[in-house]
This record gives sequence, structure tokens and C-alpha cells, in this order.
Amino acid sequence: MKEYGYSIVDAVVDHTATQNDKKPVALASRSEMDRMFLEEAPEKPSDAQEVLDFVLQNVMTQSAIVSHPKSFSFVPGPSNYVSAMADTLATGFNIFSGGWAASPAAAELEIVTLNWLLKIFGFPPKKGGGIFTSGGSMANLTAIVTARRIKCGDDFSKAVIYLSDQAHSSNIKAIRILGFRKEQIRIIPTDIEFKFSINKLKNAIAKDKLEGLQPFCMVATAGTTNTGTVDPLTELSKICKSEGLWFHIDGAYGGAAILAKNGKQLLKGIEKADSLTVDPHKWFFQPYEMGCLLVRNSKWLKNTFTEKPEYLRDVEGNESEINFYDHGVQLTRRFRALKFYMSVKTFGLKAFRKAITYNIEMAERTEALLRKSAYWEVISPATLAVINFRYNPIKEKLGEKELDKLNQYISEKVVGSREALLVTTVLNGQIVLRMCLINPRTTMEHVKETIDLCEGFGAEKLNS
Ligand SMILES: *Cc1c(COP(=O)(O)O)cnc(C)c1O
Repeated sequence: MKEYGYSIVDAVVDHTATQNDKKPVALASRSEMDRMFLEEAPEKPSDAQEVLDFVLQNVMTQSAIVSHPKSFSFVPGPSNYVSAMADTLATGFNIFSGGWAASPAAAELEIVTLNWLLKIFGFPPKKGGGIFTSGGSMANLTAIVTARRIKCGDDFSKAVIYLSDQAHSSNIKAIRILGFRKEQIRIIPTDIEFKFSINKLKNAIAKDKLEGLQPFCMVATAGTTNTGTVDPLTELSKICKSEGLWFHIDGAYGGAAILAKNGKQLLKGIEKADSLTVDPHKWFFQPYEMGCLLVRNSKWLKNTFTEKPEYLRDVEGNESEINFYDHGVQLTRRFRALKFYMSVKTFGLKAFRKAITYNIEMAERTEALLRKSAYWEVISPATLAVINFRYNPIKEKLGEKELDKLNQYISEKVVGSREALLVTTVLNGQIVLRMCLINPRTTMEHVKETIDLCEGFGAEKLNS
């Protein structure tokens, strides 16, 4: 067992040490993968080391390296070694993190680490509460169920929910899972800066009220996935307050930036949320899976998720001994708090602050670099470490259609080369390249090399 375990640790450490020299993109097709792996479940055993070697050689090598310094797309997963080992420990001991009686220390560490986060985000430390989830999607779902329960009780036939056209798709998914009809969802167009349009929101709420509907919840975003934009949180909180709406903030992407001075300013107003999603497996550098929902009043979760089946009656415990199965969807839960606890204890919050500040500044330096060039156009400025831009050589005077094709081509060539993961997104109908720079391993050299690679492919296309 030890030998087996040590060879896994060796593999993880070797990968961590050499990942910068590998290619971040994996491009295998279904048929290639089938050829490699498709087989019937074996009746007979195999040698453990052989199975492991096969996996190390063929499975681990056929996945994108999301912690690679040139993995710029979606939201990268920088992770950290201490947390990876903490996850291994939690799995190795197979700790049940559902109820207090099963593992008091696991519940306590969840309380302690949630308290750290409540304090970081300016939530009421005693009354507030939360839960760790599989990710941001599950945290948003948990938030919207809670909002509905607290605001509407059992009858939500007239309930209406508001979100912007830049809100993350997981919110719409959650709304659909919860059985809302299409007529109960208002997607409010964003303004020129991709922010919630206050005027359009106010109009929509007023109209719905006149029609006898029940506006009950608003989902704002603190750091949109597309552009890093933060909605006008303070203004939105005022509207929610005066209209009696639940104020949910989806900070899955950008929330962690509160640890940096240059992020905290942008996130002003985040402390006014009724519920807040943050995603430690993104910019808090935790490995997958770890999301988090914070709420202003811990009782809201309890009143939404508590069920008392007869087989759990002996383990209920007292009020202060939280059973996290009463705070969310899962009964059996892995011990997610451990990795957060161990990594924050080991590195200190200061290291997190430093890394996040570095990330935000690097996106700003990237913007400055692009603005100085006659080949590049910045489409959305560096915000919370996200920047969108396109190849648009001034002297070529290209039209919109040509620019779309050109930038799509550049992205496909870059990904095809496997040198960098850099895909497109669409902003205001334009195809643009998007960089999300939350990896502290990424340096300006990595950025410059990637921009140069893009310029090469751009010139190649123009000359063809
Ligand atoms: C990533 C993200 C989500 C979804 O989180 P998962 O952890 O991928 O489930 C939700 N909202 C925003 C703003 C995100 O960036």
C-alpha cells in the first residue's frame, strides 16, 4: 500500500514540477479515446501497479492542464499542492462531512473556515452562515432555493427572478431545475460596460408589480465570467431593499479578489448581499471540487433544507452542533473544508493576497502591452484579471466579418498548436480573444509569447 501510494505522490509532484514544460491543451477525439480505453468490465484482477502505470501514461496525459501558465481560457484552476494532499487525506480517511455526530472536527473546521470567509466578505459573523458545495453552480442553486423558500414559502406561482444577460449560465440552469416557467425569468440587458442596467431593471420590476406578479430575487454578478465586470452592487442592494427582493451575488469568479487592495475597491457593496456564491476552486487556488455559499442569516439555510427522517433522529445533536446536511442538498458529503483550512494555515492569507494582487496587475500590464501595439484592439479592459481583445491591425482597415473570421482562426490555430489554451468569446456580437489570468505561475513572458504566437497566425491568415 505504501509503495503504491508513494508512486502516486511521486507522479503528482513530478507533474507539478514539470507542468510548465508540457502543453496545456488535450485534443483527443471520442474514437481515439474509445480505441484506447473501451473494454468490458473485467472479471479478473490485474496488477495494481500495471493499472496505475497505464492510467499515468494514458489518462493523465490526455487532459488539459488547467494549472499551466498558458492555460488562459474559461477559468483556469491553478490549485495548490497542500490542498491536493489535504483532499487525499480526506479521501483516504473517507471522512463523512454530513453531520456533527459522524465527525465533529470536520463540522467544526467547516464552521471555522466559513467564519473566515464571512469575515473576509463583511457578513455578520455570528448570525451569518454557509456551506461548502461541489462548485459555484451548486452554490447558486442552493442560494436560489433558499431565496424562494424564504421569500415565497410554498407558492411561487407568481414569483419573478431578475438577472443580467452577463449572469453565469449556472443561474439559468438552477432556475430551470427549480421548475420556474419562462415567464418568471427576466434577463435584463447590460449597459455599454456589461453592467446590470439599473434603469431597465427598475422598469421591469415596476411593470411586474403592476401586473400582480411577485418580484422575489435578483442575481447580481461580482466578476462576470466573460469580462470580470462587477455589477453596481450598492445601487442594486438599495433596489432590493426597497422592493423587498432577495439579493444574491454570484461572486464565483471574482469574489476572491476582495483579498487584494485593487480588488476590494471594485467589490464594494458585496457585504450587502443576502447570499453570496464564491468558488474556492477558482481564485482561492483550491483543487476541484469546492464551491461555497455564504448567507447573512444561517437560519435561512436551516429552514430551507432541514428534513427529519426517522433514521437520523439519534444523531441530531444540539443547536450549535451544525449538521451540514441541514444546510444544503447533500447528505453524504466529502470533507471539503480541510483543504481550505490546511492551505490557509500553511501559506497564510498574505500569500493569497499577494498572488491575487499579482494576477490583477498582470492583466493590467497585458492591457498596456496590447494598447501600445498597432495590431491589437482592447475590447474590454483588464478587470479582475480578465481581458478581452482582438487582432485588428490598424493599417488593414478590416470589416467586422473579416475580423471575426481572423480572430476565430487565430484561436483555432493557437489551440491546435497546443501551445496555449486561448479560446474566443462573443462581446457585443464581436468574436474576441479572452484571457483569464488568475494563475500565479503565469508571467509576462508567457503572455508575450502567446501574443506573439497569435500575431504570427494573424499575419499568416492575412497573407494567405
Ligand atoms: C464558474 C462560475 C460559476 C459556476 O461555478 P462551477 O464551480 O463551475 O460550478 C458560476 N458563476 C460564475 C460567475 C462563474 O464564473
